[in-house]
Amino acid sequence: MIASKTPLSILKQLIAIPSQNPMGHEPVGDGWYEAGVSRWLCEFFKEHSLPYEYHEIESQRGNVVARIDGDPNRPTVLLDAHQDTVPVAGMIVDPYDAIEKEGRLYGRGTCDVKGSMAAMLATALRLIPLNGDHAPVILSFTCDEERTQIGAAELARRLALPAGQRSALLPENPQFAIVCEPTDLNVVVAHKGTVRWKIRTSGAAAHSSNPALGVNAIYKMAKIVSCLETYAVELQSGGIVHPLCGGRTLSVGTIHGGASVNIVPEVCTIEIDRRLVPGEVAEEAIADVDQYLRKNCDADFEFLPTDTISNPLLDRDNATLCQRLIEAAEPTRPNRQAIGVPFGTHAPRVAALEIPTVVFGPGSIAQAHTKDEWIEIQQLDEAVEIFVRLLTAT
Ligand SMILES: [Zn+2]
Repeated sequence: MIASKTPLSILKQLIAIPSQNPMGHEPVGDGWYEAGVSRWLCEFFKEHSLPYEYHEIESQRGNVVARIDGDPNRPTVLLDAHQDTVPVAGMIVDPYDAIEKEGRLYGRGTCDVKGSMAAMLATALRLIPLNGDHAPVILSFTCDEERTQIGAAELARRLALPAGQRSALLPENPQFAIVCEPTDLNVVVAHKGTVRWKIRTSGAAAHSSNPALGVNAIYKMAKIVSCLETYAVELQSGGIVHPLCGGRTLSVGTIHGGASVNIVPEVCTIEIDRRLVPGEVAEEAIADVDQYLRKNCDADFEFLPTDTISNPLLDRDNATLCQRLIEAAEPTRPNRQAIGVPFGTHAPRVAALEIPTVVFGPGSIAQAHTKDEWIEIQQLDEAVEIFVRLLTAT
């Protein structure tokens, strides 16, 4: 029975269970949140007699954690995959009835990141018959990666608890962590982070027939936007470049101002997206923009509270893990590389606990979040071989 559970058959089952992340919007209709996938995972572990826990965070959202005990002389490895997918709206393939075609499997989450989840579960089934002759493994399935990362935050909180308060399946921290995302089976040792916030200018409303009676918030913002355009250029040419991830960027993404064409606008707001290179700290990046505007722009403004902080992943202590993964991949998919990527993940939350962490998984980020999302089936099988080789290496 176990033998019939290929990563492909597991993935098809996972794709059939919607777990859309509403991305901060009010969900309309069915198929939202991770509860269905969580229930399926708990059933899977029950069926295969592996100890598991469900850590509820809020209604319909929580993490599933399972454990496969192994040889205590080998390093414990945490494998993580997120349960949520981005919404299915606009897809041109059936999001839930996964179709196989020309070596690919199509459907929402095939690539990001239920493919990796299926590979993790197929790996677990390969380890069970080895009766502990492998590294101890913690499997974590976190919620809400695509939006606010409450799942990874909860996992990190539990991993930071002192002995005595920890859950039975997390008695001590893993020595290594692999956060699964589509990397084409390369090993991501560093990635950029993101910080987003709003800047607001305020004026005074007046009838547009006599604008001198008001103060135009859009005119103030125009000065700020112009100043930020210059800042963004200076930032990129400013010399701080990570060898794997590239340079720092800043982009003004939205602007909203004014209530009506016949009123002098009272308020104008812009949203800033600043990409952090490994080693940068979000608060310092925000403070630098503040300082620059105060020095170079004569308009008054205010910074609103930060909307998003997603930290960069640092290639500081993960070289050994990276090397082991590359070696494990060599017989199956040779010439894997240590790479840096511009997209963020929730891996830094685990890495912050001084657990060497990399990002790795089957599939390409080019197919994540797309209207015809797919994964190369061969990569699924290869991911299992790589995980098994890594975890059984002595
Ligand atoms: Zn993902």
